[in-house]
Amino acid sequence: MKYVGAHISASGGVENSPLNAHEIGAKAFAFFTKNQRQWVAPPLSKKSIEAFRVNCEKLGYKPLQILPHDSYLINLGNPDPEGLGRSRYSFIDEMKRCELLGLDRFNFHPGSHLGKITEEQSLDLIAESVNIALSKTAGVTAVIENTAGQGTNLGYRFEHLKYIIDKVNDTSRVGVCIDTCHAFTSGYDLSTAEGFKKVFSEFERVVGFKYLKGMHLNGSKKALGTRVDRHDNLHRGELKDEVFSLIMNDARFDDMPLILETPEEALWPEEIKYLYSLQK
Ligand SMILES: [Zn+2]
Ligand SMILES: [Zn+2]
Repeated sequence: MKYVGAHISASGGVENSPLNAHEIGAKAFAFFTKNQRQWVAPPLSKKSIEAFRVNCEKLGYKPLQILPHDSYLINLGNPDPEGLGRSRYSFIDEMKRCELLGLDRFNFHPGSHLGKITEEQSLDLIAESVNIALSKTAGVTAVIENTAGQGTNLGYRFEHLKYIIDKVNDTSRVGVCIDTCHAFTSGYDLSTAEGFKKVFSEFERVVGFKYLKGMHLNGSKKALGTRVDRHDNLHRGELKDEVFSLIMNDARFDDMPLILETPEEALWPEEIKYLYSLQK
């Protein structure tokens, strides 16, 4: 089964996210469990948690259709101890929110070395951060997203994802999410059917589909290998419709959230319909 949706707003309370997803015809959704640009947020109220669960149940959203995203300030590979501490605190807090909401996966950007330590040292900090968070929570899988490799961001090679997974103590609670725009601009050529085949056989070889817990379906404004993160809507930019058709007709992407993070939100209902129409 394919579950397509978008990263929708949770403003006014997390309980609004399933309602907003339903409104645009989404069968999956992503959202922030708190304001994504602030370090601290009040805890989720009992009422909000209950309403979220009721709304998901009523509208038919199961945990495997929902992919909460961490806030942008978090850097689990931060070489500065204070910044790292703050990031870890926030990460654990957000993972606990997912647990309270009854969700089973939590999507995050691995982190950045900020030019102060090596990639490997920063990846070690990220893996250590994941281990700490997993030891303080239950039932939620940490889902590492591949990145475009902009600036000093890590996670732009499948090898980075694998490096982190290998250092996680409980591999049953670590997974990955592949963003098509990030993969493409970090140098994985998804612009042709042949490229798609090659990239995902490399993914299987290096990481393994058993770790795939979600996808971000985005077009790209920037060219292959530019390492710049600029999403585009479908039918635009560098990524052709073919790659999305290949994903929609490939069972390896079944039963996980397939999330649009395309810039023009008004197009989401159409984009969701379009993606389903690609199924043969
Ligand atoms: Zn993404
Ligand atoms: Zn992005």
